[in-house]
Amino acid sequence: MIEEAAKLIAHSRFLIAFTGAGISAESGIPTFRGHGGLWENYRVEEVATPEAFRRNPSLVWDFYKMRIRKMKDAKPNKAHLALAELEKMGILKAVITQNIDDLHRRAGSENVIELHGNIYRVKCTSCDYRENLKESGRLDEFLDEGELPGCPKCGSLLRPDVVWFGEPLPEQALDEAFNLARRADLCLVIGTSAQVFPAAYIPMLVKDEGGRIIEINPDNTGITHLADIILRGKAGEIMDGLLKKIRHEVRR
Ligand code: NAD
Ligand code: ZN
Repeated sequence: MIEEAAKLIAHSRFLIAFTGAGISAESGIPTFRGHGGLWENYRVEEVATPEAFRRNPSLVWDFYKMRIRKMKDAKPNKAHLALAELEKMGILKAVITQNIDDLHRRAGSENVIELHGNIYRVKCTSCDYRENLKESGRLDEFLDEGELPGCPKCGSLLRPDVVWFGEPLPEQALDEAFNLARRADLCLVIGTSAQVFPAAYIPMLVKDEGGRIIEINPDNTGITHLADIILRGKAGEIMDGLLKKIRHEVRR
């Protein structure tokens, strides 16, 4: 199976990757569903919806600051690094991720499409102000601030620039992702339960257009029935083994 996957990847014309929370599990960031899932300690409707933020912004900001701290300390794992290397080799054309943890970029991937936002970005609830706290160098100061964060431009409340339940996805990112999916002849689907739409349409679109799917996940998911190759196991371990075989295949 893994040999076959390596061959397909090495000889692909337009490979993309579609990733979810599971690719970051080995970096110590809990997934949403399943054992050790993030939602076991928090009720989704209390922290990740626009209504929750209107009702209790302090609770939501406490939750997100906790997540920022965790994600800041996490390191990219072998799966993130393997994808970055496949891009450098010219094989992987883009990573489409549902993750907000920034680990793909930190691993060195350049063409990353973030469908659900990014944990380091904030945006104003009233005006068009947006800020990447890592780029502005304000992250530590922001995390230490006890008060609710205010917009430097208009004074209104700032919110995390992530997609909450019930909110639409950023249009440009979604368009780009769908276009990539239409062009792809092969898609690596890694660590996603493929239950959150519209993101989960991406592998379906690849398949509709005649492309193939390689799934990497320890469990069955919403797209397992569409997968051409299923590699059962942890993303880091599998991608590491796969990368070695791909290097070998490319050298032949
Ligand atoms: P999910 O929690 O629904 O599914 C996680 C999937 O990962 C499951 O299929 C599980 O079997 C698999 N998995 C667990 N450990 C794995 C490992 N070591 N290697 C490979 N796969 C593994 O996550 P989802 O599909 O991404 O969708 C839910 C939402 O979760 C997304 O909207 C995303 O924004 C959000 N989320 C993001 C992060 C993050 O940024 N790291 C973390 C938690 C949730
Ligand atoms: Zn503002």
